[in-house]
Amino acid sequence: MATLLFRSWQSLKSPTSLRLGGRRLSHHGTCPLPSRCSYPAACSSSSSPAAIGLEAETLLGFISGKMKATEVAHLVWKSILQKGDCAIDATCGNGHDSLALLRMIADDSGHGFVYAFDIQNSAIESTRSLLEESTDLDLKNYINLSLLCHSKIEDVVPKDAVIRLMAFNLGYLPGGDKGIITIAETTLPALQAASRVVASGGLISILVYVGHPGGRDELEAVQTFASNLPTESWSCCKLERLNRPAAPILVLLFKK
Ligand code: SAH
Repeated sequence: MATLLFRSWQSLKSPTSLRLGGRRLSHHGTCPLPSRCSYPAACSSSSSPAAIGLEAETLLGFISGKMKATEVAHLVWKSILQKGDCAIDATCGNGHDSLALLRMIADDSGHGFVYAFDIQNSAIESTRSLLEESTDLDLKNYINLSLLCHSKIEDVVPKDAVIRLMAFNLGYLPGGDKGIITIAETTLPALQAASRVVASGGLISILVYVGHPGGRDELEAVQTFASNLPTESWSCCKLERLNRPAAPILVLLFKK
């Protein structure tokens, strides 16, 4: 299982270089480890099995159960994104993902933009308050909050925008009405739209919750969609905890 996971993961970073924390790093550089690396021994020998970068550290964090799927997702986004990029938060909810995205891509000179969507006014307002209290950015220059179904992203996102990431955090709004959930009928057209707007080298990240009624059906729909994407242009994988069947599942679709 671990081998398979590593294989899928490596196909995610198939180019010879990868961006980490806004820098593009070579796989063959002297020390690919970011300063927060928790494996200092790796810095002394690049041939050591412990000589791993952020991607493997992230994967090991998930495998060992120390890292939650949301944390893994954010670290993967960080490897894909750099300052000045554009991203979409398809389900902004309480705003935690929009905030994480803004921190990854907004720079001081007004570059970097997040298009955020939710169908609940309370979610849009909750996201707005979180962003206002958590950042000094002049938000109108960096984020557009749309009270709109994510299947309609192409009505909002400019045709020429280079979208590096589209993130879905499915299910219901934490602390909100558990009866309002994402459903396959709109998640699927949104994924189809995502597959059109995400740029080459970009990612669709989908965190799927299966603990509520309808969650498993939505997972099935997401998996079927992912399985049918052509291998020439997409690499699709999922991270799933086999002995915690109710834990969220992270599905990652990388556009080659
Ligand atoms: N990313 C959020 C959590 C999202 S919860 C956070 O970090 O806090 C899922 C959200 O999806 C809910 O707020 C719900 O209102 C929203 N949602 C449900 N169906 C949707 C749709 N068709 N389009 C956009 N958002 C939708």
